[in-house]
Amino acid sequence: MFMPKRVLIEKDALNYPLGEKLYKEFQDKDIELIMLETTRTKGIPGTTKEEKYSHGKNTLVVGVKKSLTFQTCKPSAHYQLPLVTGCMGQCEYCYLNTQLGDKPYTRIYVNLDEILDRAKKYMNERNGEVTIFEGAATSDPLPVEPYTHALNKTIEFFAKEELGRFRFVTKFTNVEDIVGAKHNGHTTVRFSINTDKVINSYEHRTPSMRNRIEAAYKVLNADYPIGFIIAPVFVYDGWKEEYKMLIRDLNNKLDVDKHKNISFEIISHRYTTKAKNIINEIFPETSLPMTDEERTFKYGQFGYGKYVYNKDQLSEMKDFFKEQLGTYFSDSEIKYII
Ligand code: SF4
Repeated sequence: MFMPKRVLIEKDALNYPLGEKLYKEFQDKDIELIMLETTRTKGIPGTTKEEKYSHGKNTLVVGVKKSLTFQTCKPSAHYQLPLVTGCMGQCEYCYLNTQLGDKPYTRIYVNLDEILDRAKKYMNERNGEVTIFEGAATSDPLPVEPYTHALNKTIEFFAKEELGRFRFVTKFTNVEDIVGAKHNGHTTVRFSINTDKVINSYEHRTPSMRNRIEAAYKVLNADYPIGFIIAPVFVYDGWKEEYKMLIRDLNNKLDVDKHKNISFEIISHRYTTKAKNIINEIFPETSLPMTDEERTFKYGQFGYGKYVYNKDQLSEMKDFFKEQLGTYFSDSEIKYII
């Protein structure tokens, strides 16, 4: 659970029961509480990039989601569902590093009913076709779930929607709120996993592999469809042995008769020059492998280029995961290995 050092609360948020409740709760806690007159944040300190990053990561903003125009979310879903923005985790390679400015605070919204009403309108506009919403496009929503219960309510909302589906991805493990929700199979919970070496080296302030597997076990046993995103996959000394161990550990924990409810997505490590520059500023000591000469430059679908592993490495990776998952998870679906 996210325990912020500083909470910024928008004045308008107090017009909603959740805003009022959170305001009272935070007043009783030993944390800095700042009232905002507008949606403009203020009061997050920091001079250097590292300081700003660290203070941002320890700040929670309680606000009202004003713009109810949802972003599209191709190719995995039709729309982003804006439940939370930001994340308390400090993964060095995180894509949010390039998205949230130099003080990457977490913002939660008190007007969930309005957000879900809007989702319902988007569904109605699609004339009887299934509409998929992604709840983690700009966040990891789980660390703030104890404050908002937004995932629980959203899961129960979609359970009643014949033509609505919800999905999100997390690295966190406080799944009690999710396990207890009525889901009707309409929500897919995906867990982002990796080897202990990758987690310990790059995924600061996130739970261990063992705890993530335990959380996935609970969610799978609550009969949700679940997924594992193994990402980013790194090629390093002993990588095959360690990823093999990861897949074996999953297999040991998860009942074989539930494997058909599991899917896998495998994504190799890649970076853009913009991301690399930001990472080097925030984490000057980073050991992330980002030597351009050791990678292949490739133009992505959104027009900018990225550095990926070379063709032989990628093909070795594909063969490896196909073989391992084929051995231990033959009833599960591999969505893609890229
Ligand atoms: Fe980013 Fe996910 Fe890590 Fe949070 S847990 S910092 S969203 S990669």
